[in-house]
Amino acid sequence: MYDRAARERALALLATGVSLNAASHRLGISRYTLREWRDDPARALAARTHDCPRCSLPARDPDRSAYSHLLGLYLGDGCLGRLRKDVFSLRIFCDDRYPGLQREVADAISSVHPDSKVFFVPQTGCTAVTNFWKHWPCLFPQHGPGMKHTRSIVLEPWQREIVEQYPGRFLRGLFHSDGCRITNWTVRTVAGIPKRYEYPRYFFTNASADILRLCTETLDQLHIAWRQANPRQISVAQKAAVAALDVHVGPKY
Ligand SMILES: [Zn+2]
Repeated sequence: MYDRAARERALALLATGVSLNAASHRLGISRYTLREWRDDPARALAARTHDCPRCSLPARDPDRSAYSHLLGLYLGDGCLGRLRKDVFSLRIFCDDRYPGLQREVADAISSVHPDSKVFFVPQTGCTAVTNFWKHWPCLFPQHGPGMKHTRSIVLEPWQREIVEQYPGRFLRGLFHSDGCRITNWTVRTVAGIPKRYEYPRYFFTNASADILRLCTETLDQLHIAWRQANPRQISVAQKAAVAALDVHVGPKY
């Protein structure tokens, strides 16, 4: 009676933590039906499980370039949530001021988990770009209880290999989630004429020392100069370094 899109939409809404009552009111679907879907999402989604690259044998890599990007996004501003029956939601939180980035995040998810639907779930001031899969923890074994900065974040060898192959994509994911590119300016008088000079620079802020280290190691790999601005923040400010990072990251849009 309800098609897959309606079921997925309902699960996306329930994943945000709204009550069955509120979801029922909003979607016009009975609480009973919603509870059934919530309690057995795999069945609600007709168990269309895409082959998992990691736990099927022999293990293979997902789309490597997209994965490197998505790993950066996940470590920056993403989380996995466990639904019933071992289905997981991947949510990447994206600022509503940058709709272009939201589409990019959705593309990265689609490349890593093909043939699945990506949802844009509105939250306060941001959008959770959301996807369901039993295998998200296989792709992000860093998943665990509590906040990322309260546990150690260590990449597995296969992840490290992918990041080393696509360092620019990984940095793009990190800087577009937990980073920013700002432009300071100043006016200097040259030969009697006031002239405006602009100084773009990047910041990356994360409470996890492990994630900061992954960021700086990757910058080192690309010979991009950085400095520690404070214990939770690094900056890239030298002109050549900003230009080199612009090739991979650039302003949010
Ligand atoms: Zn798997």
